[in-house]
Amino acid sequence: MWKKIRILILLIILLIVAVNAYRDQNQNWSKPVMVLLHPINADGLPTTQQYIQQLSGQDLNGAREYLEKAAQQYRGQPTYFYFNLGRELNALPPKVPEQASLIDTVLWSLKFRFYAWKQHESADGSPSVTLYLNYYDSAQTKQLKHSTALQKGRIGSVNLFASKKQAEQNKIVLVHELLHAFGASDKYDLATGQPLYPVGYAFPDQQPLFPQAKAELMAGHIPTSQTTSKMPDALEQTLINAITAIELGWKE
Ligand SMILES: [Zn+2]
Repeated sequence: MWKKIRILILLIILLIVAVNAYRDQNQNWSKPVMVLLHPINADGLPTTQQYIQQLSGQDLNGAREYLEKAAQQYRGQPTYFYFNLGRELNALPPKVPEQASLIDTVLWSLKFRFYAWKQHESADGSPSVTLYLNYYDSAQTKQLKHSTALQKGRIGSVNLFASKKQAEQNKIVLVHELLHAFGASDKYDLATGQPLYPVGYAFPDQQPLFPQAKAELMAGHIPTSQTTSKMPDALEQTLINAITAIELGWKE
């Protein structure tokens, strides 16, 4: 009798895990996409705090329009995105390990999912994705550490500059990480940062190949030659190419 109940409980747990994993890997794009953003004062500076205080969900209207336009173009029907600015959090997400072994990465992803579970409050609702925005004062931090997002768990840890001048590039990083959470992969050489050809190009078939007018969003940079590239200034200088659209499930 007990043995049967135990097996039944295990089967139920397995079913829940399987359903969650399936849901995390197969976004229903006909439903509105709710993106919850939690700002965090990552360097603890008063200047960073001031920047966080004046943030508004409306700052991301441009990003919302960008995503809705791209989704409409590939899917042939609308997808609605909503960016909700949630509570400011005090605890930072676990640091992404650098030059990590597989074990480090697995442990970090478990820690990150535990962190997300601990931070969650019922008032947060059940967003499609939760992004933790770690803000740093650009006068103190010159280079940001790598941002990361997990498709399983639909969470991302995004490092941003607390500066109005950087607001446009922040949006590029934020949307790039958001798409990771939906299964899009990086399209640049991890060693050099150079966009991969042809998958990391906005216009891979263009003749001549250079200059390229835009960056592919998951490559992050506009290639200016086979070996050089530059940062786009704003989301408008990027696009989501067909390969990324396939990864997202926007295109067959
Ligand atoms: Zn990336």
